[in-house]
Amino acid sequence: MTKLAIVVPCYNEQEVLPVTNEELTGLLNVLRDEGSVSGDSFIMYVDDGSSDKTWELISGYANDSDNVRGLKLAANVGHQNALLAGLMTVKDEVDAAISIDADLQDDISVINDMLTKFKEGCDIVYGVRSARKTDTFFKRFTAQGFYKLMKRMGVKSVYNHADFRLMSSRALDGLSQFKERNLFLRGIVPTIGYRSDCVYYERKARTAGESKYPFGKMLSFAFDGITSFSVKPMSYIMGTGVCMIILAIAFAIYALHSYITGNVVSGWTSIVLSLWFIGGLLLFSVGVVGQYIGKIYLEVKERPRYIVEERTGNGSEN
Ligand code: UDP
Ligand code: MG
Repeated sequence: MTKLAIVVPCYNEQEVLPVTNEELTGLLNVLRDEGSVSGDSFIMYVDDGSSDKTWELISGYANDSDNVRGLKLAANVGHQNALLAGLMTVKDEVDAAISIDADLQDDISVINDMLTKFKEGCDIVYGVRSARKTDTFFKRFTAQGFYKLMKRMGVKSVYNHADFRLMSSRALDGLSQFKERNLFLRGIVPTIGYRSDCVYYERKARTAGESKYPFGKMLSFAFDGITSFSVKPMSYIMGTGVCMIILAIAFAIYALHSYITGNVVSGWTSIVLSLWFIGGLLLFSVGVVGQYIGKIYLEVKERPRYIVEERTGNGSEN
């Protein structure tokens, strides 16, 4: 039977935690009674260096129930790192782990569908928001712009999927091979591979407490996502440089023509030409240097080059 862990990163969530814990333990009990998960499945709360009563609450829940555990991080390290901490802690012990935000904006009733897909052989099941009715126009607009930009920058990511997903233990093993510090899970997970699928739900409003992702943090998250996955901005700089040089050549013809026909102020031709050429050349050079830095960047990440799914044939047991 599937041993499941539900991993919940929590940062100053004392307002929502009581509700969240009730709902999640309720759900886990139902799943257990139905026989979809094993009796020793559990919820793992990760306290991301909260300064409120979050940890007191978590320890309380863990004392009251065998199916609740807590992990307290020594400092606030951010949503992504907190989530990774939780996932890596449970990875060797469970068959599958589901990550979900503490505010339960994601619909926990689709967890059942996730488990079904897992049992059908999917290693990764993404929770995808089919509607964002409850988000403000601003949040919706910025979030969607973000997904589009990511796509244009060549980052593989699942549209409208946040960090609500199921991962099998071998997918988590794959994830553990990504050594980067600059963590952007939504981008990393699709690069792991294995069979994956999506389940759809409507995103709800936060039940209590405030969003820990104000606009500024969201922007830096988006920037992080792009810069940790794509070296395309460098190519764009180089491309702009090339365009400027081509423009400079076209302009040179025009300027020389004006010079020959004589209707220019003296000194204009040389100044204008060198301006464009030097500009183009500088931009192009920065772009070239950027390409090398981009390569160094990809090397130092030491990402796995491949992940083996299965082996067959003679000697595959060794
Ligand atoms: N979170 C965290 N560390 C942080 C910020 C947020 O662990 O530094 C957690 C937070 O407790 C929540 C999840 O990350 O469980 C998502 O945060 P939030 O709901 O505030 O983001 P939003 O849904 O508004 O994008
Ligand atoms: Mg939220």
